[in-house]
Amino acid sequence: TKREDIRNIAIIAHVDHGKTTLVDELLKQSGIFRTNESVKERMMDSNDLERERGITILSKNTAINYKDTKINIIDTPGHADFGGEVERVLKMVSGVILVVDAFEGPMPQTKFVLKKALELQLPVIVAINKIDRPEARPEKVIDEVLDLFIELDASEEQIEFPVVFTSAKEGTSSIDMSKQEDNMEPLFESIIKHTPAPDVDAEGDLQVLISTIDYNEYLGRIGIGKVERGNIKTNQDAIIVNKEEESKNKKIRITKLYEFEGLSRVEVKEAKAGSIIAIAGVEDISIGDTICSIDNPEPLSFVTISEPTISMVFSVNNGPFAGREGKFVTSRQLRERLFKELHTDVSLKVEETESADSFIVSGRGELHLSILIETMRRQGYEFMVSKPKVLFKTVENKKYEPMERVTIDVPEEFMGSVIEKLGTRKGEMVNMVPSEGGYTRLEFSIPARGLIGYRSEFMTDTKGNGIMNSIFDGYEPFKGDIPTRSRGSLVSSEQGTSVTYGMYHVQDRGNLFIHPGVEVYEGMIVGMNSKTQDIDLNVCKKKHLTSMRASGSEEALRLVPPIIFSLEEALEFIEDDELVEITPENIRLRKKILD
Ligand code: GDP
Repeated sequence: TKREDIRNIAIIAHVDHGKTTLVDELLKQSGIFRTNESVKERMMDSNDLERERGITILSKNTAINYKDTKINIIDTPGHADFGGEVERVLKMVSGVILVVDAFEGPMPQTKFVLKKALELQLPVIVAINKIDRPEARPEKVIDEVLDLFIELDASEEQIEFPVVFTSAKEGTSSIDMSKQEDNMEPLFESIIKHTPAPDVDAEGDLQVLISTIDYNEYLGRIGIGKVERGNIKTNQDAIIVNKEEESKNKKIRITKLYEFEGLSRVEVKEAKAGSIIAIAGVEDISIGDTICSIDNPEPLSFVTISEPTISMVFSVNNGPFAGREGKFVTSRQLRERLFKELHTDVSLKVEETESADSFIVSGRGELHLSILIETMRRQGYEFMVSKPKVLFKTVENKKYEPMERVTIDVPEEFMGSVIEKLGTRKGEMVNMVPSEGGYTRLEFSIPARGLIGYRSEFMTDTKGNGIMNSIFDGYEPFKGDIPTRSRGSLVSSEQGTSVTYGMYHVQDRGNLFIHPGVEVYEGMIVGMNSKTQDIDLNVCKKKHLTSMRASGSEEALRLVPPIIFSLEEALEFIEDDELVEITPENIRLRKKILD
């Protein structure tokens, strides 16, 4: 039977193309928007890091009532996929809205999620947003979307996508570009018309597939998923099984059941097939679990959580400056924080080590772990991390390594250096096409190892104009050693009374960066900023520490933000036996102090 009263839809958008504004507007116009709360405020509060990085990490649910239909809108993670989450989210829905800026056009970051949606044969509604922008070029953007669909092997039906022109900002939309209506009805109608109602077996035995996990202090673990078959009631007994984990076979009682309304979860007594629900009160509920009726426990298959590809050691900061900046510095605090992360991030792994002060944390690539590190730092944690280590796999005595697929958009003038650098790092170019505005899009297949530390180098090489995205691309036989780069050396030259310090950042390019705010510990660079050019530095000696303060030109100083350097930059300079000190204020590199 078809649940005509429901539409389950996922939303895909490049950051800043207006997804939040659009969902807010839909909420507002559907009348659910009672309070002052908006998605925007929520996102601002909780996800500034995600926004900065241009990705969303946790999928969020919003539900909107339009006429007699409930529309569940599920946010998709941006380009970064940390363990099959995108696919699991997409399995809950029967269609997607792709939001595209009417000026910028589709961006490579959305490609990965879109490809998954197309592979699952989901119909796509294209919302050309910001149609009010004076420089909007909607026809051209539609062509670009079409090209992208063709490139991603969309089916014939998918290529004939419906288009809605929207201005989320002004709350208007239309099917016919020349007649913008002063509300979102055309978009609402389009969703109802082009997204199939969930087609489910309402009478069968209960099956709920848990697709995501949420956590909160009061409710504990919360499983979110779609009722695939039958119906679920509070106080009923059920059985929890898992296709990948035969030992999981446990009787449970449904105590807390929720559906989504607006931005909230509301408790319900019953939910029917086709609904997206949340269940609390079930201890160790996990992704991939199926909640079934007692009489017929049939587990559904699900997109497995992919294995971690990279690991780092997280340790208590025990260096000479330990504990000066952090609120949370002890091994107990570090341990608790890391294990808490496992509640919501299923693709992360945390292992104890022989030392109570150190933990091995594994995840899906450098970006995954660096987001965790950055989040903890902002929360007031102080700790140290090691250089990321790629996790190899051995199959029949052969060594395999994780690969990444990297998409890079760069102005033509910087193409050469990108190709050369990635070549040295064992990257293989698989595609090269011209894109908008004098940019070229390059695609590489590269060992995950080869990307460690490349991001910041890339930003420097392209003078901040490049866009780089990478995604896990399976395992391939070991590609051989990658030559390690020289870290460069500290040089100084007298210039009158002040001393100019510089560092050969990249050997083949000579003396490029002079770093203000740099601290030197036993003769090494422990902090830097890559945005600056030459600056004079005054030096003052403090015990074994030499700290330098910038006294460069006003122009140069203006370029220097107070943070010493980013994690990616630190990782670029770190060697195997060194640690990066992460504190709420600074990220510094330091010689290995352990043993
Ligand atoms: P998100 O990152 O995709 O969630 O994007 P936001 O909804 O936060 O929007 C990014 C920026 O674009 C904000 O400054 C919005 O005010 C602006 N914006 C969103 N929709 C529109 C629109 O339809 N027209 C114009 N001119 N600006 C918009």
